[in-house]
Amino acid sequence: MDSEPLAVLGHRMTAQRLAMNFDFTEEQKQFAESVRRFAREHLGDGALKRAHDPRFPFDVAQLMAKQGLMGIALPQSEGGQGGTLMDAVIAIEQVAAECPRSADVVQFGNFGPVRTFAEYGTPPQKARWLGDLLAGRVVMSLGMTEPDAGSAVTDLKTSARPDGSHYVVNGSKVFSTFSPDAQIFLIYVRFGAGLGGIGSVLIERGTPGFAIGTPSAFMSDEAWCELHFEDCRIPAENVLLGPGGFKKQMAGFNVERLGNTARSLAYGRYAFNKAREYAATREQFDRPLCEFQGLQWKFADIAVKLESAQLLLYRAATNADQGLPSAYETAVAKVACNQAGFEVASEALQIMGAIGFSRESLVEYCMRRTRGWMIAGGSIEILKNRIAEHIFDRRFDQRKRHSAAAE
Ligand SMILES: Cc1cc2nc3c(=O)[nH]c(=O)nc-3n(C[C@H](O)[C@H](O)[C@H](O)COP(=O)(O)OP(=O)(O)OC[C@H]3O[C@@H](n4cnc5c(N)ncnc54)[C@H](O)[C@@H]3O)c2cc1C
Repeated sequence: MDSEPLAVLGHRMTAQRLAMNFDFTEEQKQFAESVRRFAREHLGDGALKRAHDPRFPFDVAQLMAKQGLMGIALPQSEGGQGGTLMDAVIAIEQVAAECPRSADVVQFGNFGPVRTFAEYGTPPQKARWLGDLLAGRVVMSLGMTEPDAGSAVTDLKTSARPDGSHYVVNGSKVFSTFSPDAQIFLIYVRFGAGLGGIGSVLIERGTPGFAIGTPSAFMSDEAWCELHFEDCRIPAENVLLGPGGFKKQMAGFNVERLGNTARSLAYGRYAFNKAREYAATREQFDRPLCEFQGLQWKFADIAVKLESAQLLLYRAATNADQGLPSAYETAVAKVACNQAGFEVASEALQIMGAIGFSRESLVEYCMRRTRGWMIAGGSIEILKNRIAEHIFDRRFDQRKRHSAAAE
């Protein structure tokens, strides 16, 4: 586009300034290409094996650390790469295109609890753990959900009671990703009553009073363990966010949501690409599958889902580059990408018939994983509640109202 001056709404603007650019910048293109090359060379071969291994791939994490794919959006002064959240989204997309499972490592190193920890941790806490986390030597797990506090996360009961220079933690957590392999846990706790009493602490594996149960498996084959705290004493220096920290924790958690969002979409795209290759070459009735209109329309529908969801993801990530992403834009993007990712993976599986349903293709894996992200990190229903609040500019309390007589 040329840059002829235009008069618009009384302002003189250039056509260049008016343009909304839906393309990557040159730097983003180069970054995407270099990540893709790295993923093709180092991760493509073992992709199937990795997908069926529930344990955290430390070898991949250490490789990625060397490649500069951990802490992409963290400042260089903290061991990060000084990039943006959008760069981290690009990294998820390019890695997942070659090895879906390895995108979990990009999630861990850029979007997961590590990001909240890097945002709010004290200098001594970071000096102790951040280096090992960003080097891929240690993995961190988030303990937020409890048996009686899922969507209603503020109902959490795990308590942290002050005791001299320590806190004593009691309670239990469920469903924590990476818990079988984590060395350090970011645990949401209650220091006192109500929303203002919620904060978080850091607890290391092996701390007396901290028991980690035997691994269970999700439908996605990801493993998680129950976490039990019984009079578990931790030093006061392990408090990450004290009472009143819940809002900050949620602000950090929006980054984690965006990582789930990006992986949902990337897995959907992976499945789409596999189905496209298959439909172009597989013949039935003496014709390639792609010549049947019944399948062409499926491809058209899923392309629309992927492309529209991607714009919402890029908006949330790009607008977040000046800080943490907006709760509303993240919610809209997550709902769109969760739905697109799962529906596309499911359709891709259908297009590929029995081979798509087989564990020899990663398409069934993409379908199972994308299903989980419709629940994890704020379920679709809870995010729709959040979107409705934005639409009506008011809060809709989900709790049952107590009648005066009942009190
Ligand atoms: C793959 C995966 C990874 C996870 N990783 C972690 C982790 O690392 N750390 C961690 O702490 N937790 C983790 N979780 C747990 C996750 O945060 C919870 O599953 C989630 O918060 C929902 O809680 P719940 O499963 O108890 O469902 P519930 O809260 O019991 O909800 C059940 C259903 O009711 C719907 N529902 C509930 N309330 C409302 C409402 N007000 N309006 C409309 N619908 C509603 C929900 O959307 C859901 O469909 C993970 C879960 C999954 C599936």
